Amino acid sequence: MSNCTALIVAAGTGERFGGPVPKQYQDLGGMPILRRSVLAFLGHPHIDKVQVVISEAHIDHYEKAVADLNLPKPIIGGPSRQDSVRLGLEALAKSAPPAIVMIHDAARPLIDAATITSVRKALDHERGAIAAKPLVDTLKRGNGTDIETTIDRSNLWQAHTPQAFYFDDILSAHRAAAGSQLTDDAAVAEKAGINVSLVHSNPDNMKITNPDDLDRAARLLGQNFSDIRTGFGFDVHRLIPGDMIYLCGVGIPHHHQLEGHSDADVGLHAIVDALLGAMSAGDIGLHFPPSDPQWKGKDSAHFVRHVVRMLNERGGLISHVDVTLMCEQPRIGPHREAMLKRLTELLEVMPNRVSVKATTTERLGFTGREEGIAAQAVATLRFPAV
Ligand code: MG
Repeated sequence: MSNCTALIVAAGTGERFGGPVPKQYQDLGGMPILRRSVLAFLGHPHIDKVQVVISEAHIDHYEKAVADLNLPKPIIGGPSRQDSVRLGLEALAKSAPPAIVMIHDAARPLIDAATITSVRKALDHERGAIAAKPLVDTLKRGNGTDIETTIDRSNLWQAHTPQAFYFDDILSAHRAAAGSQLTDDAAVAEKAGINVSLVHSNPDNMKITNPDDLDRAARLLGQNFSDIRTGFGFDVHRLIPGDMIYLCGVGIPHHHQLEGHSDADVGLHAIVDALLGAMSAGDIGLHFPPSDPQWKGKDSAHFVRHVVRMLNERGGLISHVDVTLMCEQPRIGPHREAMLKRLTELLEVMPNRVSVKATTTERLGFTGREEGIAAQAVATLRFPAV
């Protein structure tokens, strides 16, 4: 069989998704969406090489998702999907151009081996072939509120990926179409007069576009994350003279600081304990003993990242984290937005999955006397049903 490279397009910014983690790097069933797409091709007998096209802004996410898979260096894409594919093809042309290229959107992580085989085999007697699904719903054209007309759905298909072509054909077609705004490679091929055949796609080969799609994809994977666990965390650190307090990952200039072996960030410590609690995995002292000199003065973000990694390894997801800071001073309100932003980064979740609250204790107790600051946190985690 002719040499075939899978070109996986993951350069989109995923604006419809929101949150600090781009869509293609979000977790689906215990691994990033991109990794799942890459693995589907990497392990396939008809695929000789997998090349990914990414956004320059996502290099760190990319490394984290697939660093261990020994892939060739990623190609940096362009502003539109069409630009990214063209840049990917140009890069392949310069290195070792394959006979056949199979172009696939990273946002379709449920692609199955049988569909890859069907699309590849179609190229034995066709110049181009795409995975596609016949339309089953009746189509209506609306005017905003009402139906204007019903469209005949016979012969209508939904275009999926992968889409396979002879490399030289699709490279010239993309060069000729550069600058137009075509949404798939079949359209680029059609414009160049290349006949493209339709191959039945697995109906589960859905595209993940909105956050809701992640839940649907997880259900299709047979992992409905219905095992919900809650963990509680509590932490206190003493106030001593100083100039900076760290709370929920944000440094706040103050006339005192929190005393502790690390940066003494009570907010992050309570969150770490809540996460560990929900995983039934001990507490912060067990994982980061205060007696160990390596944690001295350490940014507590390190502890949070460590437990988020533990959670990923266990196939769990963060549903929500809520933290309450208890102090008379400093005032939390002016720093709340910065704390929320930092937490979404550290926990790798969307903004609606974190909450920071603050209260005084009405000048009562050690927090009221400003001897120390306390924090409590509740973490809700979801795991695949067992
Ligand atoms: Mg602590």
